Order: sequence, then structure tokens, then C-alpha cells
Amino acid sequence: MPKYIFVTGGVVSSVGKGIVAASVGRILQARGYKVTAIKIDPYLNVDSGTMNPYAHGEVFVTDDGGETDLDIGWYERFLDITLSKRNNITTGQVYLEVITKERRGDYLGKCVQIVPHITDEIKRRIRLAAENEGVDIAIVEIGGTAGDIEGQPFLEAARQMRLEEGFENTLFIHVALVPILKATEEFKTKALQHSVNELRRIGIQPDAIVARCEKPIDKATRSKIALFGTLPESAVFCSYDVEHVYEVPLILEEQGMGVFITGRLNLSWRQPRLKEWSDIVASMKNAREEVRIAVCGKYTKLIDSYVSVREALIHAAAYAGAKAIIDWIDTEEFEAYPEKVNLLSRYDGILVPGGFGQRGVEGKINVIKYSRENGIPFLGICFGMQLSVVEYARNVCGLEGANSTEVAADTPHPVIDLLPEQRSLENLGGTMRLGAFEIIIKPGTLAYKLYNTRVTRQRHRHRYEVNPAYWDVLTRAGMVFSGMSEDGRRVEIIELPSHPYFIATQYHAEFVSKPGKPEAAYLGFIRAALNRRKNLENYSRSRNISLPLR
Ligand code: GLN
Repeated sequence: MPKYIFVTGGVVSSVGKGIVAASVGRILQARGYKVTAIKIDPYLNVDSGTMNPYAHGEVFVTDDGGETDLDIGWYERFLDITLSKRNNITTGQVYLEVITKERRGDYLGKCVQIVPHITDEIKRRIRLAAENEGVDIAIVEIGGTAGDIEGQPFLEAARQMRLEEGFENTLFIHVALVPILKATEEFKTKALQHSVNELRRIGIQPDAIVARCEKPIDKATRSKIALFGTLPESAVFCSYDVEHVYEVPLILEEQGMGVFITGRLNLSWRQPRLKEWSDIVASMKNAREEVRIAVCGKYTKLIDSYVSVREALIHAAAYAGAKAIIDWIDTEEFEAYPEKVNLLSRYDGILVPGGFGQRGVEGKINVIKYSRENGIPFLGICFGMQLSVVEYARNVCGLEGANSTEVAADTPHPVIDLLPEQRSLENLGGTMRLGAFEIIIKPGTLAYKLYNTRVTRQRHRHRYEVNPAYWDVLTRAGMVFSGMSEDGRRVEIIELPSHPYFIATQYHAEFVSKPGKPEAAYLGFIRAALNRRKNLENYSRSRNISLPLR
């Protein structure tokens, strides 16, 4: 029987609940407990796949093909586990299930209501996700903020679970913002107090409070939060700003979070093992060398749109003993002012991430051309891979006007085209080629050198692919297809042997990267970028010129 830890949020959203939930998991895992994490998103979309990244940040793809909330990514990175789409529960899924049952007649004779039918379905889904994995502890993060209309049925379900599972098997952690007034340097707890009252109004008394604050809270603030929260001071924690989010488990453990939770849930005392984790954190903080990466995409105004890409770069850089300095560049810039693309020479590596639609595409193609022609290490992901093929077709194979049919339906050379099985689809939700598939790597290629294996399993999310009608033209012109789908029908990895490091993948390698366990294509990219940096430094030293400044 798993125990349940519910994590709620207060005052504002995006307060870092996901990181706290993941950190609590890590702290318990460090004591040898088997942990899973579940994210509840109180929106009506069945999954996050139909939302643009500006609406809700990155769409994280699970191994079993779920298009999920980006917090699932944080859980996987912190806990080094593979989660299922079942771990992300939305209002849309819950209502869809209940209404489908109602139409089928499963509730015949009854009036179908939020309590108990919706709340029962919520509890069923939470338990299903936890029990399926046979864990000791399931962490359930309830998205949004206490007091939101949308979140009420989920909080009600959690309240009922306290009764059904028992006091020793359930724990409520409330994470709320504590702002600091600049003028007086004071920690202000009133909003936090109100958010605790919102929880109590529906019958939840938190067992612990995590104050999310720029700086560590002082003793007086901790006592005040404890007093108003009706908690001992030992149940009040602070998650303050740190350089790397991976430090959060360490700072919470230091404040006694592990002792508090295991005591409260009546778990046996075990020595925590966080050495390996703190070594990884140290490798991030102590890295001396810098590696400058330009990520050229279109959702650059909200960094959460590419959170897994950023983290994969950070993991790889730390592993290689470096710090990744990442600039997010909107490729539309390169459409209005194509000569600006020369500014990219100051970077050690260029990455074009996944994406959809027309905006910024010609700019991305300019960027790819620049990296290819100037020997700058390049990594293309999904759309970035498809556009690398478009660029090569146009500028090397001489196929004028080549394009993806996603961008130009009437292109004379559809080098990227819809996957055959996508042609007859009617619905857009959950219908891309999704989830993990095996990729067969060709020996003797750069990909083989990186992965050092013939088979890798990687996650996908796409509708288009390299058109088989153009395989011949592309490969004859020097492009190598170094990874193919298991059935040999799909191109998964392309590379250019004439270039120091030009590799692009149809899959999203970033989704499997973990701190301390970087993904091979990302690690290769960072290493190639570091090499370029060293060569440039040597070159500038020998000629006594200085490197261009950022
Ligand atoms: N838009 C492209 C496709 O659907 C690429 C998708 C992506 O980058 N995730 O195939």
C-alpha cells in the first residue's frame, strides 16, 4: 500500500511546486524508498499536446507516448525513473471518462455529480498510477493555486484520501511564495497565510509548509509561518533561489525535510544517501570552462518552452567539466536581417530544436546553412533535423524550393512529407508519432561512435519525416543516414561526415537526459563545441587577436 504526499501551491502559480515535489521524492529515494510522482493539471485539455508552448511550457513526451506536463520531466530528471502517461492527470481526462461512462449507462438511475463521481474518478486515477508501479510513496502535485475554481475537485479528492488512507499514510505539503519587500528588506507572509486559509476552507490542514523565497527566511519569519499555519517550526521549510534547481533536495534535506517526512509517515529511520547527487551538483557549480551555445528556435521568450533541451545541455556540459552558457535566439531575426546570421560565429555550438509551423522557418534554414558552411558544431532536433534536410536539398543538392509540406504544401520538392499513416487522420489530439521507438544505428558513423551501440530507444513527437523519394539524392550528395527506424522505413539520424560535428535526429534526445547521465548526441555536441572553443582560443592566441565578445 503506497503512502501519498500531496503537494499544493499558494499565492502564485509557477512557484516551483514541481521542483519541491521532485526534491521530496529524491530525499525519500535517498533513503531507499521506491517513489513515483503524479502531476495533476486542472485544465480541460485531455493532455498538453494540443497547447502551444507559450500556453503551458514544453510538452514533455513519456516513453509510452504521453504528451504531458513539463513537471513530469522534472520528476524523471530528479528521480531517474521512467514515468507513464498515467502519471499526468488532467480535468479533461477525468470528465471524458465520467461522461463516457454516463453515456454508456454505467451510472443508470443516478444523478452524476462532481462529488462523488468526479472525485471518485480522480482518486481511482491517482491510486492506479501509484499502485501500478508498486511504490512505497507516491507524490501527487496538484497544479494551480489553492483557491482556484479548477482545482477544487482535486483538493476535495485529496481530502477524502486522507480519510480513506489514514493519517499516517497521507501528508500535505503546501508550497507558497513569500515575497521580500525591497524597501524594508522584510519577508512578507500574509499572502501565504491567506493561501493556507484557502486550503483549510475546504478541509485541508497542511502538515508542512515550504516558503518559496528569494533568500532563506529568518527565524522570526519561520516562527510566524508556523504559528499561523498551526505547525511546529520543524514543519516549516524554505526553498530559496539557488544556482541550479538540482540543489533543492540538498537544501531541503539540510533543513530536516527527510527526518520530518519519514517521522510523520511512520517510515523506518534510514541513513540518506545523497553523496552521488551532491557530487553531480558540485560538477555543475564548479565547472570552470565555458561553452557557448545558441539555441535558435521560435518560442524563445519563454525559456520553459525548451526546458528539456536546456537541461540536457546543462547535464552534458557538467559531465564534460564545463558550464553551458545558453542564448535563446529567435530565428525571425534572421529573416528580416539575413546578414545577422554571421553573429553566430561567436558561439561554440548551434542547436535548432523541435517546432511546428511556418514562423521563423527561413531563419532556421539560414542558421543551419551557416553552421554547415562554417564548420560550427550543430545539433538538430526533430523539426531542426527536418529543416537540415531541407537546407541540404536546396543548397547542396540544388533542389530549388525544396521544403517540408508542413511549411509549403505546394513545394516542387517535398523532401519532408507527412508520415503515410498521418494522411487519413481526423483528430489532432494525441495522434502524432509518439513515444519511444528503437533506432538502429549504422556502424562506422559518428552516431555509432557516440552511442557505442547498434540500438538506442528514443522518444518521438512528429507528423512529418524524410520523404523516401529523396533518400537517394540526399545520400548521393554526401548526407549519411546513420540511424533508421527498426523497420528501416524511417530516417532517424542524419549526419555530415565532411563537417566537424553535424548531427540531427528525428527523435527528441533531450527527454532521456539525466543529471550525471547525459544523452550521447548532446554530450558529443558539447564536446565538439568545447573543441571548437579550444581551437579558436589557440588560433587567436597565435595571432594575438581577441575573441569576439558576447
Ligand atoms: N513539425 C514537425 C513534425 O510534425 C516536427 C515536430 C517536432 O519538432 N516535434 O514532424
